[in-house]
Amino acid sequence: MAKQIVMLGPPGAGKGTQAKMLSEKLSVPHVSSGYIFRENLREQTELGKHADVYINRGELVPDDVTIAMIRERISRPDCDEGVLLDGFPRTAPQAEALDEMLSDLNKGQVDAVPCITVPDEVLIERLTGRRTCRAQGHVFHIAFNPPKEAGKCDYDGSELYQREDDTVETVTNRIRVYLKQTQPLIDYYQQRGVLLEVAGDQSIDAVFDEIMSALSGV
Ligand code: ADP
Ligand code: ADP
Repeated sequence: MAKQIVMLGPPGAGKGTQAKMLSEKLSVPHVSSGYIFRENLREQTELGKHADVYINRGELVPDDVTIAMIRERISRPDCDEGVLLDGFPRTAPQAEALDEMLSDLNKGQVDAVPCITVPDEVLIERLTGRRTCRAQGHVFHIAFNPPKEAGKCDYDGSELYQREDDTVETVTNRIRVYLKQTQPLIDYYQQRGVLLEVAGDQSIDAVFDEIMSALSGV
């Protein structure tokens, strides 16, 4: 089964939710670019300070910084058997850089790209109701996927918070940015024959089953 996997789809499609489940099932690390940025922001590292303004405007962090960050992350030994990328690549130069780094690291190529699609109006509802766990980035939704106890993560008990960029205004911009800069990657991967189209507007478990059966054919 495929091991170099890229999750594609607009913000709010369910990439993070599915990636967490897939990572466990396939025993490959879940690498989320947004999560790494937010961790750096919290720790006030140079990278975090640099990324702050872009994230809060719903813009993309510049390619050079993002590519260097992912290169460092996937070079670590835990990615030797594969990786599940969530949120990266998001631009054509990032996709090309990923091909290059996988080949430099002798990891072969991207071999599967589940692309989750959901109607725009659903995305806004999902993102504005999203609640994220402070400790490890587990995601919940106040209505669609509520935690057992309000405000508390089911997995590690840490606090659930609302991301600053999950406001209607920023979300609208993030969707616009996705359409312009990330959507073209669908063609990029389709031409390579690795795109797996997944309907995201169904239950979390149904989406998971659809991805697993698509992956089993890879
Ligand atoms: P992404 O990583 O693509 O931005 P997330 O996985 O964070 O998306 O999901 C966005 C929000 O939608 C979260 O609040 C999550 O709980 C919720 N969600 C994810 N998948 C589904 C689904 N299939 N049905 C309903 N809500 C979902
Ligand atoms: P979502 O869950 O909505 O898909 P992410 O958590 O993936 O959002 O990303 C949050 C923000 O982090 C983005 O709006 C952007 O500012 C920044 N970011 C994450 N990944 C990338 C990337 N690959 N390139 C540039 N910026 C990124």
